[in-house]
Amino acid sequence: VYQPKIDIGTGKIVSVEALSRWNHPELGQVSPVDFINMAEQIGMIKPLTEWALKTACSQSVLWREAGFSAIRMAVNISPSHFLDKDLVPLIKGVIKETGMLPSDLELEVTEGVVQTNQENLAIFEHLKELGILLAIDDFGVGYSSFASLKHLNVDFLKIDKYFIDDMLTDNKAKLLIGSMIEMGHILGHKVTAEGIEKKEQFKMLQEFGCDSAQGYLFSKPVSANEITMLFDRSFTC
Ligand code: C2E
Ligand code: CA
Ligand code: CA
Repeated sequence: VYQPKIDIGTGKIVSVEALSRWNHPELGQVSPVDFINMAEQIGMIKPLTEWALKTACSQSVLWREAGFSAIRMAVNISPSHFLDKDLVPLIKGVIKETGMLPSDLELEVTEGVVQTNQENLAIFEHLKELGILLAIDDFGVGYSSFASLKHLNVDFLKIDKYFIDDMLTDNKAKLLIGSMIEMGHILGHKVTAEGIEKKEQFKMLQEFGCDSAQGYLFSKPVSANEITMLFDRSFTC
């Protein structure tokens, strides 16, 4: 399924995030939180990522061919896979096979992987050389934020829902969000906020100068067909 990210300035969808779903015949809809962990434990995370990347990139190419050329595709990469030597060749292969424009692809990785040893930095650099965009997901809840920001060349910081949830009631959460946006901008990153459910949150993020937003307020994760209907819409506060 796909969930849109809205440009706060224009109100238009600029990107969609691919979120995996497992429709199990007996268990029903299994949350990715459960099966991603399991996939990591049993060594299935690589085929799963490969499937998610191929599915998402093929969809992105279809949208571009249908004339929706301003929509990027974001794919989550789990930490253990991000640090694997096979990741860069996998991404290269999928881009080649699907005909995806590298600049249409965003990879979301959590702060856990964003450590500053030479090998990790080299992976970021190789991915940037391919021309794809990188986002630090769940920003603010990890443990490596500041040291890693000093070294890394990422395009987006994605502020975690944890802060958004009580930004309207907790002054500290609000101050932290404002500071993260300001710091992100000073360091040359774009800032996205996730988990927006209320108009007031959207409004406050706009006042803070946040670049893009994602959440149930705009759309839950939906099928490719359903999201296509939203591409022409404008979301305003
Ligand atoms: P995430 O990357 O932080 O994605 C955001 C999660 O919050 C998604 O849950 C999304 O459906 C949900 N969400 C978005 N907006 C709102 C909102 O306004 N309110 C609420 N309550 N929730 C919202 P989902 O789809 O269950 O995914 C959970 C996590 O599983 C993701 O967190 C991501 O880390 C992981 N994941 C999902 N698909 C993949 C995948 O293909 N590969 C990998 N490695 N991880 C994945
Ligand atoms: Ca994500
Ligand atoms: Ca999150």
